[in-house]
Order: sequence, then structure tokens, then C-alpha cells
Amino acid sequence: MKVKTPIYMDNHATTPVDPRVLEAMIPYFADKFGNAASRSHAYGWESEAAVDTTREQIARPIGASPREIVFTSGATESDNLAIKGVADSYSQKGNHIVTCVTEHKAVLDSCKVLERRGYQITYLPVNSDGLIDIQRLEDALTDKTILISIMAANNEIGTIQPVKEIGRLAKEKGILFHTDATQAFGKIPLNVDEMGIDLLSLTAHKMYGPKGIGALYVRSAKPRVKVTPMIDGGGHERGMRSGTLNVPGIVGLGRACEIAQQEMVAEANGLTALRERLKEGILSQLDDVYINGHPAKRLPGNMNMSFAYVEGESLLMALKEIAVSTGSACTSASLEPSYVLRAIGVEEELAHTSIRFGLGRFNTQDEVDYTIGRVVEEVGRLRGISPLYKAKKMKLQNRRQVEMKPQERAS
Ligand SMILES: *Cc1c(COP(=O)(O)O)cnc(C)c1O
Repeated sequence: MKVKTPIYMDNHATTPVDPRVLEAMIPYFADKFGNAASRSHAYGWESEAAVDTTREQIARPIGASPREIVFTSGATESDNLAIKGVADSYSQKGNHIVTCVTEHKAVLDSCKVLERRGYQITYLPVNSDGLIDIQRLEDALTDKTILISIMAANNEIGTIQPVKEIGRLAKEKGILFHTDATQAFGKIPLNVDEMGIDLLSLTAHKMYGPKGIGALYVRSAKPRVKVTPMIDGGGHERGMRSGTLNVPGIVGLGRACEIAQQEMVAEANGLTALRERLKEGILSQLDDVYINGHPAKRLPGNMNMSFAYVEGESLLMALKEIAVSTGSACTSASLEPSYVLRAIGVEEELAHTSIRFGLGRFNTQDEVDYTIGRVVEEVGRLRGISPLYKAKKMKLQNRRQVEMKPQERAS
């Protein structure tokens, strides 16, 4: 089997720019360089038209209107703007926000800052599949709750939250609903009206677009959502986010949305098949492997696995030619196990043995087969030198011998 290495299988961290996206962007660097806010000449109009096309390309597939799209530098900024912007705008109404323990740091850290400013935050737990409980969410709501922020799909374990049910509940209670859809956008169907979404974060670089460009959907009617800007300046983006627009990036984001929309069904089917192949290939050859996240309600390209008795970091080192990541996040100086895995109840020791495979548009079956072979080989090798694994095997063997009848043992 011939595959080109290194193999990129970390598509939750970022994705390569699709050549079709790059092609769309190129004219907007040097040729069509106008400032989209220049109202007095053709250069400005040309850029403005390109930006408006992207607003349509983002809005239409999710049932939004183009004017509800606010461009940002990425999902981190979108999350900040949604959460802090709503908190500030609605502080007269209440000071309570509900989110979830497995959210991205952009959401959690925004909430932390608000906590220091006197806001009350409820961090909902998740079950062993990574799902929140709707009843628990309902129980957490008070007459001071102004916002529910729950992600559409998790970036580590791929679990897809019951967005529609959350939105329905939020609408019933008259509470705003923000969803960080960074991993879900363009991968699974989303509709802001059907799902009761008031604010939605997305970024280009997780869907084969460029880095440093994203957007926030902000509902403009029923209800008209108000967010206090974090960046003040020329009043761009209906006053919600000032600053000269990154036109080439925006054009790339638009083309990426368009491609994702056109190819979503076929791509999801293809990636699900590759993911299942990876899963079966590994599970059929290795014991003591555990899958993290929901078996079915998960992103097509996500597979997160714990390999008991193997340090995730050692496995990563051994698999140098395959770009995957551990479930662990390296927080400042200390190497802590992933808070997402801990939240779904994975023991600390097992959490340290986890690997996230992020399959994407450009992965092939040959790459998956190569990866299966290498993972099986290296896990086997690392377990072979693990005293813990040997001790466990011995114990099992002894137990089997005790369980066997004496005459069997003799033969
Ligand atoms: C990547 C990611 C972000 C951050 O997006 P940036 O555009 O890199 O700032 C936020 N939330 C989730 C779920 C992500 O996966």
C-alpha cells in the first residue's frame, strides 16, 4: 500500500484550504483589492458585492437572511461576541447564563470572565456519551436566565447535541440560544428557524477555508437580538463589529460554505464509511480499546479512542508520520488530561491514553488502512513493554486457569 506521509488526520484542529476556495480568493488580494466600505468608487463596490455574495452563501443554507451575518476573525471572536455581547445588552433583564462543561474554551473562558463581573453561570454536566440532559437544562433555567450557550458538535469527541430540543425549550421560555457550530457547520444540516437558534458561531478554517475569518449569525427578527460590540470603530457590520473587512478571507469563507453545502450529504456518507472502517479495523485487532463520544450522534469524521495501557503521548510520538492529536490539551505548563474526556467519565489514567482521529475531505481509504496497520503495530509494541499490561494479562491467564476444571487444565 503506497501512501504519502505525513498523513493529515487532525481535521478538527484545522483543515487545508480546498483548491477551489483558494482559486476564488486569489483575485481579491491584488486585483480586486478595494475596501468593501468604500462607497464612492468601483473598487469598493466590487469588494462589497463579493462580501454580500458570501453573506448569502452563509445565510441561505441555514435559513437565515444575509443581513444577519456578522464577520469576525473566527469562532473564538464569534463566541466572545455572542456571549459577552448578549450578557451586556440584556443585563437589565437578568444575569444568568447556562452552558455546558464540554464547551470549547472560547465559550468557557468568556463565561469565566462574566462570572468575575458578577454574572451567574450554570455549567451543565453531560452523560457518558457527551450529551446534555434536556430536563436538567430546563431545571437550570430561572427568570434571570438571559442566554443558553450549547455547542452543536464537540470538537474532541464529535458528539452532536440535541440542538432542536434546546432551541424549542429556549423559545418556550423566551431565552436566547447561542450555539457554537464551528465543528458542525457544513458537516450536518443546521437551520436557525427550525432549531430555534438566535446566535451561531462558525469559522472558515474548520471547513476547508482560510484561517482568521469567521462569522456570527445574529437573529434580526422574532426576536431582534442585540449584542454590545467588543470592537468599536467605523460602525461596520451594523455596528456589531468594526474594522475593515478581510475581503479575500470572506470570499474564501463563502466559497467554502457553498462547496460544503453542495457536497454535504455525499461527504458525510463517505466520511462515516471511512470512520467506521477505522473503528472496525482497530477494534477487530486490539483489545482494551474504548470509544469516546456517542456511537451514532457524532460528527462523520470524528473517532476518539482510548488505548488502555498506552500513553497517548508515546503513541503520538510513535506515529510521527500520522498527524492526529491526543484527547489531552496541553494547558500552560502542565499536561492535564482532556476536560472533555473527564466530563464524560473517562478515568484520568484512561484519558491519558486517548487519540482523536479527525478525518476530512482529503483523506483516502488507503490512508485509513495504513493508519489502522500502524496503530495496531505501535499499540502492540507499547503494550509489549508495559509492565501494567503484562500484569493484567497474567492475572487474566491465572483467572482462566482457576476457572477451568482440573482435567481441562491437565490437557
Ligand atoms: C476551532 C474551534 C473554535 C475556535 O475557532 P477559531 O476560528 O480557531 O477561533 C471554537 N469552537 C470550536 C468548537 C472549535 O472547534
